[in-house]
Amino acid sequence: SLAADASLAFRVIPSDHARSEAERDRILAGELGFGRYFTDHMVAIQWDAERGWHDAQVRAYGPLALDPAAAVLHYGQEIFEGIKAYRHADGSIWTFRPEANARRLQRSAARLAMPQLPEALFLESLRQLIAIDHGWVPSAPESSLYLRPFMIATEAFLGVRPARAAGYYVIASPAGAYFAKGLAPVSIWLSREYARAAKGGTGAAKCGGNYAASLLPQQEAYANGCSQVLFLDPVEGRYLEELGGMNVFLVYRDGRLVTPALSGSILEGVTRDSILQLARERGMPVEERRVAIDEWIEGVSSGAISEVFACGTAAVVTPIGQLKGKDLAVGDPDAPIGPVTLAIRQALTDIQYGRVADTHGWMVRL
Ligand code: PMP
Repeated sequence: SLAADASLAFRVIPSDHARSEAERDRILAGELGFGRYFTDHMVAIQWDAERGWHDAQVRAYGPLALDPAAAVLHYGQEIFEGIKAYRHADGSIWTFRPEANARRLQRSAARLAMPQLPEALFLESLRQLIAIDHGWVPSAPESSLYLRPFMIATEAFLGVRPARAAGYYVIASPAGAYFAKGLAPVSIWLSREYARAAKGGTGAAKCGGNYAASLLPQQEAYANGCSQVLFLDPVEGRYLEELGGMNVFLVYRDGRLVTPALSGSILEGVTRDSILQLARERGMPVEERRVAIDEWIEGVSSGAISEVFACGTAAVVTPIGQLKGKDLAVGDPDAPIGPVTLAIRQALTDIQYGRVADTHGWMVRL
């Protein structure tokens, strides 16, 4: 039952090769980048069709033993989440809207025909990892411990059907300020050749396959001096969807904030939803609707659109300076960062780092 699952007892097996405090603090004081270093422990919970969720462990971070026939290796049955733990000034450790990530993991699981992890067990898995690896939550400004929960199909069977066994894991990676040299605008590559999602496909799920499909266009973006790809809708190829790993917003000079409506193929970002709420509370006119790519190009060219930004857990809010594509370059890569982008970024990080009262009940202590 759900209640039994949520109260699974975790077996804690401390790592016998955990790094010393001095070694850990040396790593945390250095250039952390993103996803390069991992903490000493991880969470592992097993699921099978007979027993449900069982065998919850906190154990040494290290390789997984997988049968070579495990379904994840052949048919890509995998989903994941991304969420951060923030250290507040008093040393306490918090996370941001974890129930939203828990529910998104459930929606992703449903789409990939994987088991539902109860919301309470998701939160407990984060707490268990922080309980043992709390020393890895950095305290430098804008730093955090990035948590990566994920689920893989582990059944050894080559038939194409939903696996009857799965593993859920949580690993953690200390992350420095995303923009080491301060917030800077990025250039975005408009992909017209490739789509990220299909009608009826998995675009709204956070599954590895979506990211695998984005790597080739991402490579094209890098080759053209851009840091992310902007994908258009997969049916008409006319409407904005999102970036490879972030949602997107247009700011009109008249004060309107515009973002593509959830189309069924866009990932429902927790940051996107939080920005919409904050903007509405501040009385900003907000529009969630279809946005043609021509609206972006014409609006930026005419000046009707004064700012464009991307948002997501990793980089919070990122100004977009220029949109590039084949025979296309709109916007100024060196334009100063717009006031709306800065204010939204500040409002969000103030809440996440506990610098203002959390009036929404978004912060959860780990
Ligand atoms: N879109 C995609 C494709 C993403 O991978 C992410 C990152 N999870 C986002 C949007 C932003 O989502 P969130 O704000 O929940 O991090």
